[in-house]
Amino acid sequence: MGSIRIVAGGLSGPVPSGSFRAREYNREPNDTADLIAGYPSPRSSRNMTQTPTMPSERAHKAAKRYIYAWGGGHAEGSAQMRDLLGGKGAGLAEMTSAGLPVPPGFTITTEACNDYFAAGEKLPDGLWDDVLGAVAEVEKETGKGFGNADNPLLVSVRSGAKFSMPGMMDTVLNLGLNESTLNGLIKLTGNERFGWDAYRRFIQMFGRIVMDVDGQKFEHAIDAAKEARGAKQDTDLDADALRELVGTFLRVVRESTGREFPTDPLEQLDLAIKAVFASWFGKRAHDYREYNHIAHDLGTAVNVVTMVFGNMGDDSGTGVAFTRDPNTGEKVLFGEYLTNAQGEDVVAGIRTPQPISHMAQELPQAYAEFERIGQRLEKHYKDVQDLEFTIERGRLYMLQTRSAKRTAVAAVQIAADLVAEGIITEREALTRIEPAHVDQLLRDQFDPSAKTSAKKITAGLNASPGAAVGKAVFDADRAAEMAGKGEKVILVRIETSPDDFHGMAAAQGVLTARGGATSHAAVVARQIGKPCVAGCAALIIDYATKSARVDGLGFSEGEWISLDGTTGEVFVGALPTTAARFEDQAELQQVLKWADKVRRLQVWTNADKPEEAAQARSYGAQGIGLCRTEHMFREGERLDIVRDAILVAFQATRAKEKTAAGGSLSPEDADAVTKFDETMGKLEKLQEGDFYGIFEAMDGLPVVIRLIDPPLHEFLPNYAEVLVEVTRMEAQGVAATDPKLVSARETLRAVEALREQNPMLGLRGIRLGLMIPDLIKMQTRAILNAAIRRVKAGGHPHAEIMIPLVGHVNELAETRKILDAEAKAVQEAAGQTVDFMFGTMIEVPRGALTADAIAEHAEFFSFGTNDLTQMTFGYSRDDAEGGFLLSYVERGILPANPFQTLDRVGVGQLVRTAVEKGRAARPGIKIGICGEHGGDPASIAFFDEVGLDYVSCSPFRVPVARLAAAQAAIAGAAERDK
Ligand code: PEP
Ligand code: MG
Repeated sequence: MGSIRIVAGGLSGPVPSGSFRAREYNREPNDTADLIAGYPSPRSSRNMTQTPTMPSERAHKAAKRYIYAWGGGHAEGSAQMRDLLGGKGAGLAEMTSAGLPVPPGFTITTEACNDYFAAGEKLPDGLWDDVLGAVAEVEKETGKGFGNADNPLLVSVRSGAKFSMPGMMDTVLNLGLNESTLNGLIKLTGNERFGWDAYRRFIQMFGRIVMDVDGQKFEHAIDAAKEARGAKQDTDLDADALRELVGTFLRVVRESTGREFPTDPLEQLDLAIKAVFASWFGKRAHDYREYNHIAHDLGTAVNVVTMVFGNMGDDSGTGVAFTRDPNTGEKVLFGEYLTNAQGEDVVAGIRTPQPISHMAQELPQAYAEFERIGQRLEKHYKDVQDLEFTIERGRLYMLQTRSAKRTAVAAVQIAADLVAEGIITEREALTRIEPAHVDQLLRDQFDPSAKTSAKKITAGLNASPGAAVGKAVFDADRAAEMAGKGEKVILVRIETSPDDFHGMAAAQGVLTARGGATSHAAVVARQIGKPCVAGCAALIIDYATKSARVDGLGFSEGEWISLDGTTGEVFVGALPTTAARFEDQAELQQVLKWADKVRRLQVWTNADKPEEAAQARSYGAQGIGLCRTEHMFREGERLDIVRDAILVAFQATRAKEKTAAGGSLSPEDADAVTKFDETMGKLEKLQEGDFYGIFEAMDGLPVVIRLIDPPLHEFLPNYAEVLVEVTRMEAQGVAATDPKLVSARETLRAVEALREQNPMLGLRGIRLGLMIPDLIKMQTRAILNAAIRRVKAGGHPHAEIMIPLVGHVNELAETRKILDAEAKAVQEAAGQTVDFMFGTMIEVPRGALTADAIAEHAEFFSFGTNDLTQMTFGYSRDDAEGGFLLSYVERGILPANPFQTLDRVGVGQLVRTAVEKGRAARPGIKIGICGEHGGDPASIAFFDEVGLDYVSCSPFRVPVARLAAAQAAIAGAAERDK
């Protein structure tokens, strides 16, 4: 799994280094006692009574303090310093302070990285001197010398940013080796093979990462050495073979770079620090940050850590483990380890790691200690930990602790369990689950009945749950390319590496032939919420022919396959999926109930049909914030009725005005009026039925019904198509009286009459209602009659009639007059009154700017942030996203797609203004948002901040919004407390 699981191995010599003296742990005294209790007694190799070597304010030559060291039970940094030390550095400091066994070392801060780049890739003045000072302290702490041939200090140089970016940056192990320190290492360990193996690993890693040598060249050399010696595995190569390999590797470096491999440990260190800094801007790190919305200017810290070695015999080993199962959340130690190995052996899949539970038999003492430390770290950090460790000759070293990445299922389970165990509060639990996790839990699963008849070709490890269906693709670039064209793809790889990240992100799911539950594919897929089946050993993947097969069955690029990441099964063909059942997810419901207690914002839904309303209600929706009535017009035979109405709408409206003014009508006009009223009558009936169903599904809750919004031409056939049809008939000599041609010409005329250059800015929304008042009247009648029928049936409908696209107060005042008159007539005719509210969308910038005047006539506002974004930026929402907009985002011209995440600075300013003006004019006016941003967590935080009453989003996003609204409330409270 790329370099994710690289575990610093290292030197033993007179193992180990520091005296990990217990000291009082200032944050959580009880936890400290726990942490220390699990740790063996301090070592006697050094003078335990000496005063600590690490003063809290170490002298430094650079203008800023760039280095924080740890060792001997003392650390200059702490868990609170993630910004400066990165997650890894902060974790190592914290573990050291807590008395856990951590090899000594130091962290060069993220600030140093940023200053390095700001100075044109030059170390800040004085930093190198400070590095030398810190190295000297580590030497003192370990009793070893950097470059000392008799007792060499070796270090790992490891990246570590504020936010965990597994495997996306670089790490160099075994640094400090050269021919003379190698001899010292061999003498000290008495293990020649081990020494040469450590050296060849160092040259390989340093060569690839620091000196840019093609890694394949080293791999080929290893393969050649194995072939020459008839060795099957790397471990079969003996000391002689490895010595020869070192010679080959040094030649490879020379030939590839034109220079000798550096032998001075300090030069090695200087180059490695710079290479790790540089990896912050590497492609895969950049892609990862883009995907995860991590700022590019944070920089990475560099950790220089004393090596400890897991490959010093069968009483040594290395591994990674989670304190709970990151797939399911189950409370069991979960992970893998290898005896007599360094981290990259786990990574490269050269040997199959053992489940961590085996360690209980093979290395019982180390296992027991590790288990104890794991539990205590979990309690200390109040979260599941992802731990890296190395056992050197029976002695355990902790090399990393960090909050574990987890699946959505696990996130919710763990949060619920930690609350039940009294480790965290309900409020804290809400911050442990990402809104995206909730989203994933509502993802599709395979229909179980379809699976029984499907063609299963193989099974692997159920590495990341969920159902994925897509066309097989064997290359990450190709996956990204095809997905970019809208295709669903599954990325199939022998194993993945960080370079495949963009392909994984673009794919529906990931399938690998190699690698375990902690492989790169598994970890990354889980994190980004993609189903993944890993380690399908029987699957023979051939990149050359872009195909994969198992016993005669197989698939090639472009063929559909289906992965069940929950069970590990792989099927050929596209299996049907079923929606995840929210009602079966007790823990999720529990967590969302906690969210409901905390959040201030209500969560409503955008729903146009009774089924959608019912579904949203079952997800916890507290109302309908947007029912787009025109969606009801587009269904089945309704479209024909609507078209018939539109074709005569303007003529009939003018004719009615003429009659109202006392004029008489021509037979054609009278005909148009009859036809219009007839079709509108049909529509009214249909809509009334729809509204009745929606009121029933949302009984007792508010239902915002928006009057027709889109330009009428949207209901008519496409202009170009009708034109082609008419032209074709004319060219074919079809008689002018032919009813088909007559009708086609009539349609063409109507479409032509309604055509606009900029329909989005044309006759739509409130303008349409004012031009054809019967639309307002018909819809008002349908809504109120449905409500009256519900009242008569014992229901409690709460209709809120909403007018779209208001830009001027007079538009709204005029509309209200028409609507109120009709409402009065309906209620009088029915002999029944119903309460309803009259309100408006705020989606035109002028509407937002004059919201005080508009509020005089509106009892509620709902922000249409789709149109508001379109009109504020001047970007066509129909075209921009398919064109320049995504390029803008990629190039950093815009921080995000403003149609997805609200632009706080611009559009947000209009929202703020409208809220303030609206509330000033009509205190207590109800205000919501029903644009797409209503389901976007970052935007929800903004809507909470500006004090809206509710957000309204698609049914599927209601649970996500419930959590996001709670998180916004928690963050808001924290901000106020500051
Ligand atoms: C909006 O503009 O945000 C909105 C909800 O209306 P529509 O998307 O239907 O234009
Ligand atoms: Mg709109």
